[in-house]
Amino acid sequence: MTEKAKITVIGGGVGGYPAAIRAARMGADVTLIERDVLGGTCLNRGCIPTKALLQSASVIQTMKESQIFGITCKGYEVNFSAVMNRKNNVVSRLSGGVASLLNAKKIKIIKGTASFVDPQTVQISETGEKIKSDKILIASGSQPGKIPVPGIDGPGVMDSTQVLEMKSLPKSAVIIGGGVIGVEFAQFLNAMGTSVTILEMLPNLIPTLDLEISVHLQKLIAKTGVNVITNAAVKGIADKDDANEVTYLLADKTGSVSAEKVILTVGRKPDFSFLNIDKVGIKHDGGAIVVNEFMETNISGIYAAGDVIGGIMLAHVASAEGEYAVKNAMGHKEVMSYRAIPSCIYTSPEVACVGLSEEEAKRNHDIQIGRFPFRGNGKAFVLNDIEGMVKIIADRQYGQVLGVHILGPHATDMIAEAVLGMNMEMTVMDIANAVHPHPTVSEAIMEAAMTLSGGAIHMP
Ligand code: FAD
Ligand code: NAD
Repeated sequence: MTEKAKITVIGGGVGGYPAAIRAARMGADVTLIERDVLGGTCLNRGCIPTKALLQSASVIQTMKESQIFGITCKGYEVNFSAVMNRKNNVVSRLSGGVASLLNAKKIKIIKGTASFVDPQTVQISETGEKIKSDKILIASGSQPGKIPVPGIDGPGVMDSTQVLEMKSLPKSAVIIGGGVIGVEFAQFLNAMGTSVTILEMLPNLIPTLDLEISVHLQKLIAKTGVNVITNAAVKGIADKDDANEVTYLLADKTGSVSAEKVILTVGRKPDFSFLNIDKVGIKHDGGAIVVNEFMETNISGIYAAGDVIGGIMLAHVASAEGEYAVKNAMGHKEVMSYRAIPSCIYTSPEVACVGLSEEEAKRNHDIQIGRFPFRGNGKAFVLNDIEGMVKIIADRQYGQVLGVHILGPHATDMIAEAVLGMNMEMTVMDIANAVHPHPTVSEAIMEAAMTLSGGAIHMP
């Protein structure tokens, strides 16, 4: 009998644990090392807890608009510790699920911090145990980023992990960084009753979005009462009159805003701090581990995936990269494709996109744009959720879809249609000709495509 390939996975986040399961399914003898909790950032400090909190915020929204549906609610009260407990329960149920999945596949789980001894051996710092394997996958993730301004380490300043552990709701908060985390936190805290200001240094919130979608989202967020200040370069944070005063530069003028808490959401940085990767010569560049298209580092047999390699720091990307890494470690030769990676923001309304923004597409393509507003969609009226639109960017000559951007109800679920289609190189005709179910918000995608192939039905 041939011996099983031995694979060690460092990190039990979404970059690591699905890869461990894939490797085990492929017949490997797998060891997974996790220094903290299984599920990593996504499950414990990221995607899942934030969405659980936003779901509580959406219950408030439903209560507020209940009259429209003919239901009278006699007020509501936020029980913040119950909101946090519910979030914790969701996390712990899922976390237990990860452990059972790994156990079912007979994956050896070691609790401890891995550190390289040589290219095939890692040592557990806490116990000294050494694990030798044929292949190693590094999926050690990332940590919240910081900015070098005075007062950044003050007691009133929190990162995203600390926000998710708050025991009480602050009366006011300044969020530094209007990216994805900043905007989702702003939405949640604002719904709970906190007075929120976002300071973003670039001209728009979530600057990576298609500009039209970003501008529209920013208006909707401001309409809910969040104070959005863009082009604001933060200069410092000072303790003043029992509050935190954040000063910023806006068009050469200094401004300031005070709040009970300051929340820092200025991006994340790859984390390989405990791994001792320089000892074995693993190349890193600008703070991230460098891999080739097969997810292999410069050291043969050592792979890396997820946030630790930088690039698109999303859970589904980490998970896909990890799976590609172990498939290649097991002898395949498969290239990870980044052609159709969806990106979702769980605001109300939601935002989801895949492919090129209008600005990106214009640089290299002759494009046409199809838009369909949710105001023309029957199901959106049923839901009382008519803000936003579907925007399709396509190549003018062949109609190939280059990008799909949705701001509106169920955008984050609906984008999957565009992801599949773009993976299959679909054209706008393909979407327009596919019969979509009625009444659904997905018909807005079909109608946006129709605007580029004969005209939409429910639009003048
Ligand atoms: P991580 O999840 O960080 O896992 C790395 C693991 O490795 C950790 O558990 C760590 O303890 C362990 N580790 C590190 N070093 C060692 C060592 N030396 N030895 C042993 N173990 C080690 N993405 C989305 O797609 N959708 C979202 O809605 C979303 N929301 C987010 C919200 C927030 C607030 C944050 C912070 C992130 C969010 N993300 C979201 C991003 C997503 O969480 C990350 O992209 C994803 O978790 C990366 O997975 P990973 O496995 O690469 O890293
Ligand atoms: P981000 O990169 O999305 O946003 C950081 C923002 O901070 C940017 O808009 C940037 O211009 C701004 N900024 C940077 N320095 C600043 C300064 N000195 N003053 C003011 N603004 C400043 O990073 P994030 O929001 O921290 O999120 C980290 C990662 O987590 C991202 O990769 C994101 O994709 C992922 N994430 C995804 C989701 C989701 O998919 N729904 C949710 C949360 C986080």
